[in-house]
Amino acid sequence: MKNANLGISALGTTVFEVMSTLAREHSSVNLGQGFPDDKGPIEVRRAAADYLVEGHNQYPPMMGVAELRQAVAEHARRFYGLDVDWQREVLVTSGATEALADCLFGLIEPGDEVVLLEPLYDSYLPIVRRAGGIPKLVRLEPPHWRLPREALAAAFGPKTKLILLNTPMNPCSKVFDADELGFVAELCIQHDVFAVCDEVYEHILFDGQRHIPLMTLPGMRERSVRIGSAGKTFSVTGWKVGYVTAAPDLMKPIAKTHQFMTFTTPPNLQVGAATGLRLPDSYYESLAGELQRKRDRLADGLARIGFAVVPAAGTYFVTTDFRPLGFNGTDEEFCRHITEMAGVTAVPVSAFYDGAAGAPRHFVRFCFCKHDETLDAAIERLARHFRR
Ligand code: PMP
Ligand code: GLN
Repeated sequence: MKNANLGISALGTTVFEVMSTLAREHSSVNLGQGFPDDKGPIEVRRAAADYLVEGHNQYPPMMGVAELRQAVAEHARRFYGLDVDWQREVLVTSGATEALADCLFGLIEPGDEVVLLEPLYDSYLPIVRRAGGIPKLVRLEPPHWRLPREALAAAFGPKTKLILLNTPMNPCSKVFDADELGFVAELCIQHDVFAVCDEVYEHILFDGQRHIPLMTLPGMRERSVRIGSAGKTFSVTGWKVGYVTAAPDLMKPIAKTHQFMTFTTPPNLQVGAATGLRLPDSYYESLAGELQRKRDRLADGLARIGFAVVPAAGTYFVTTDFRPLGFNGTDEEFCRHITEMAGVTAVPVSAFYDGAAGAPRHFVRFCFCKHDETLDAAIERLARHFRR
């Protein structure tokens, strides 16, 4: 028999599945995998439900239903002043995960170099490598996660095909500012490089900040791809509806990949997402406002227990250093320990580093997109445990 357990099957199971399974086994409060307790706006769920019952439940157009593609273009104009041709520049995918895979498989040729920033979302590296890309990793350092400009510039070269940029950034909740984005844009232009921008948390920024798509910077419109997710923007992570925006030439290889990856995405969920993208500004303000309040609730609680809490500028997550609690093991050991002994689950941040060699081993990530009672229960359990 040939060995089937090479390449992609030799990878471990994703940390989110591992930690959620452990959480179920121990009936712990799961602040590991990022998914909201909130059900999402009723209008969005109702539109999807009605369409499921009454609508056309057959293959929608490969690029996505017109209503959603139009809504994506309108949303880009409303929030970012971008002029997007919905027919040629918008693609609907089965989640941002598929969108990322479509972009990476579509754009990378074997031997191309790909610049990525660590810590990084766990699907990036396996797909870059499977596509034949050579990762060039640049590491951000806590607690400010500032863009290391020299290291970034050194990672770009004649073989660089693209940079994968995630802002707001999972797991470290960093938001790149206009200055940092300007620096990235300059490098892309100077080296003739594409930017694949994972912007799934585009509406989850705190403290009055506004999301800036790299695509809006001078010279970047034609060389950037923007990826959004209905799962994050409407608190329906199980839906797996993503949307890609890119100039027609850049869209071509991405759409070609999509046609053989999933081809289409459930039409009723697309209609639900379109309804969401057309919700008034007040919806978007309350999404960020509520999550900011929850961030503060969890961060304050964790700080009172003794965690060193790293500032979180966006996303669903807060990163904490557990060393002040006197725990001497690794982040993985810590996550296992608090699941088993305190009944609370988090995610080890070293899982967001390549092979974890040299990665920090003392940070864990907690998710705060939960009901207040859930957050309070987690804080109470941790407080009780660490007071012993
Ligand atoms: N990118 C990042 C940074 C994420 O956190 C997630 C979240 N799950 C995804 C992509 C995938 O999004 P989706 O669920 O729409 O596939
Ligand atoms: N993006 C979510 C997180 O970071 C989880 C996604 C997943 O489970 N694949 O927690």
